[in-house]
Amino acid sequence: MPTVMLSHALYEDGMRLLREQAKVIIADNSDMDAVLTQLQKADGLILRVGKIDRGIMEKCPNLKVISRPGVGVDTVDMQAATELGIPVVIAPGTNARSVAEHAVALTYTLTKNISESLSETAGGNFGIRNKYAAIELENHTLGIIGFGNIGHLTAALFAANGMKIHTYDPYVPMEEAERCGYVPHDTLEDCLGACDVVSLHVPLTPQTRGMFGKEQLSSMKTGAFLINCARGEVVDEQALYDSLISGKLAGAAADVMQAEPMDPASLLFTCKNFIATPHMAALTRESAARTSRLTAEGTLAVLRGEHWEHVANPQVYNHPRWLK
Ligand code: NAD
Repeated sequence: MPTVMLSHALYEDGMRLLREQAKVIIADNSDMDAVLTQLQKADGLILRVGKIDRGIMEKCPNLKVISRPGVGVDTVDMQAATELGIPVVIAPGTNARSVAEHAVALTYTLTKNISESLSETAGGNFGIRNKYAAIELENHTLGIIGFGNIGHLTAALFAANGMKIHTYDPYVPMEEAERCGYVPHDTLEDCLGACDVVSLHVPLTPQTRGMFGKEQLSSMKTGAFLINCARGEVVDEQALYDSLISGKLAGAAADVMQAEPMDPASLLFTCKNFIATPHMAALTRESAARTSRLTAEGTLAVLRGEHWEHVANPQVYNHPRWLK
């Protein structure tokens, strides 16, 4: 039976699968240097939190697989793993539904003024109902920025609720949006100018870092709403604050911010029309179950010598370790 070490336990579905087919060590530690002796006994590592670099990998000649319960592999030295013949298992697509639903939840919370109404009602202000801050979403336009897995699902959920969908994604053919009955745009500014609600679903890349600055926020419709379930660094928070204070935007919601954990001293929290959740969009029971299962399945498959498809470094299968 192979030995699999985990930096921290996975959700129960994945743990059950692992325990059936492997000896399991839970390190409860994200510092791989500190748990090196245990890691040296392991055939596989599931890294929830923490980093693994070339130095550690080279000290663990038994290590045959490294797994990430997600898609981000910035915590793994990918070049070293590939050169050492170690597949890096990922769990793609397992959280798309949860994130899309969260974007919808934030949008309704914001556009129905739920957050302010909850606290005002609890404080005895029944009259908050007469603020008429809420709108209906039906027949309003939604801009999906980043039309990938999560963007597709979010668009479908909003379309089912009567919104008109516009998209901006220079890497997805226009025909794809048209096939879904949506309106694709070839520039971000055109898309922003057409939308009442804009929902961000791009990865953080050099091109998307700071993608929503003063200029882009000015291109949005006056009175529009911005929803960010992508990455905090995509939005310039000072520019966002300015556009909320000036009334350019009617509101903004974020599951992600530049500082995480979120900084309670952020000026954005002084705005009644800004709401935030703690990077929890993907953290549903269903998503955790799917992610933990796929991560465990991939880890065990690689340990059986199978060429598991969901790896971040598929070229690893050309390594002499895999050609034997
Ligand atoms: P995906 O790769 O399926 O889709 C991303 C899309 O963005 C792709 O279609 C890509 O072409 C597009 N894109 C890339 N650069 C762009 C640009 N400059 N302008 C417009 N579009 C661009 O990824 P996904 O699964 O849909 O996830 C999207 C992002 O959501 C992730 O990269 C991650 O940052 C974020 N995310 C957040 C949470 C959360 O908990 N809030 C959870 C999962 C993912």
